[in-house]
Amino acid sequence: MIKIEGLHKSFGELEVLKGIDKHVEKGEVVAVIGPSGSGKSTFLRCINKLEEPTKGSILIEGQDIMEKATNINSLRQRVGMVFQHFNLFPHKNVLENLTLAPMKVKKQGKGAMEEKAMSLLERVGLADKAKAYPNQLSGGQKQRIAIARALAMDPHIMLFDEPTSALDPEMVREVLDVMRDLATEGMTMVIVTHEMGFAKNVANRVMFMDQGVVVEDGDPIEIFENAKSQRTKEFLDKVL
Ligand code: ADP
Ligand code: MG
Repeated sequence: MIKIEGLHKSFGELEVLKGIDKHVEKGEVVAVIGPSGSGKSTFLRCINKLEEPTKGSILIEGQDIMEKATNINSLRQRVGMVFQHFNLFPHKNVLENLTLAPMKVKKQGKGAMEEKAMSLLERVGLADKAKAYPNQLSGGQKQRIAIARALAMDPHIMLFDEPTSALDPEMVREVLDVMRDLATEGMTMVIVTHEMGFAKNVANRVMFMDQGVVVEDGDPIEIFENAKSQRTKEFLDKVL
């Protein structure tokens, strides 16, 4: 699904990603963990071309995203992204938030789109909020809507950048539950997270990033209980 080779990214003089070679297979749920500033967000943002890599190649389902001929909109349809701060359209109600983008790019009628949006709202437990506006929702509800909105495009891959970091503790669970369901259904997911319980129990692979490289990559239980690298151990000692 995702094939990353020799990925480098610099901002001016600052080299943030220093050569990443990683493949993600269909159906894998990869948790990316690591200290703040290690390049996790930049890594994720390169995958759907929110950042332009300085060097290296990224293939999504076999297609080179750096190639000029690659259509950015079709890429973004296939790769959904959920951010820490929800980024819902504030002046649109929930249903409109879900149907706006698909109506632009997919050749389907309004009725069909709304039906689909309603079934997605059902799925994240928020069908009763279809007519609500974002400012009438809790943080956890907003994030579940953001996930439903990304799913409305029928993505093949979902990227999450600290989806629960901005939430009050009592709302973290409801968002993680939606993500867990998605993982169970076989969605390919890359999730930057500080939720170590989620990384250990739901992900089937953990990558530990530090200073622009992936230091360790493997089975969650293996990494949490028996990390090979000293840097990983030190990080886990601090956060667990
Ligand atoms: P993480 O998500 O692991 O906290 P980031 O990928 O956000 O790390 O950032 C890695 C480094 O890149 C940080 O030093 C950050 O300040 C820098 N950085 C990120 N985005 C930009 C940008 N657009 N311009 C300049 N520096 C950036
Ligand atoms: Mg980040």
